[in-house]
Amino acid sequence: MPIYNYLCKDCDEVFSLQHLMFETINNCDICEGENIVRVINPVRINKKTPTKRKVGSVVKEFIKDAKEDLKTQKKELTKKDKELNKEIG
Ligand SMILES: [Zn+2]
Repeated sequence: MPIYNYLCKDCDEVFSLQHLMFETINNCDICEGENIVRVINPVRINKKTPTKRKVGSVVKEFIKDAKEDLKTQKKELTKKDKELNKEIG
């Protein structure tokens, strides 16, 4: 069975699950949250990258990138919230 990686937007954690291709996972393995996105394994593999490079490290980097993206998104949301509060208050 293939292993799939998921990123949970609720708890910012990445977890791996082994399941069949036609199965869908709806809940986070850690917090049971429903805001999970499947991280498809070697998405960002550069064609110039030597094949000797371990796929695991590429996945790690991808997950790191995804997490950074989430952080930026969260920051922007917080900023917007604060601006809204200013307008109301
Ligand atoms: Zn979670």
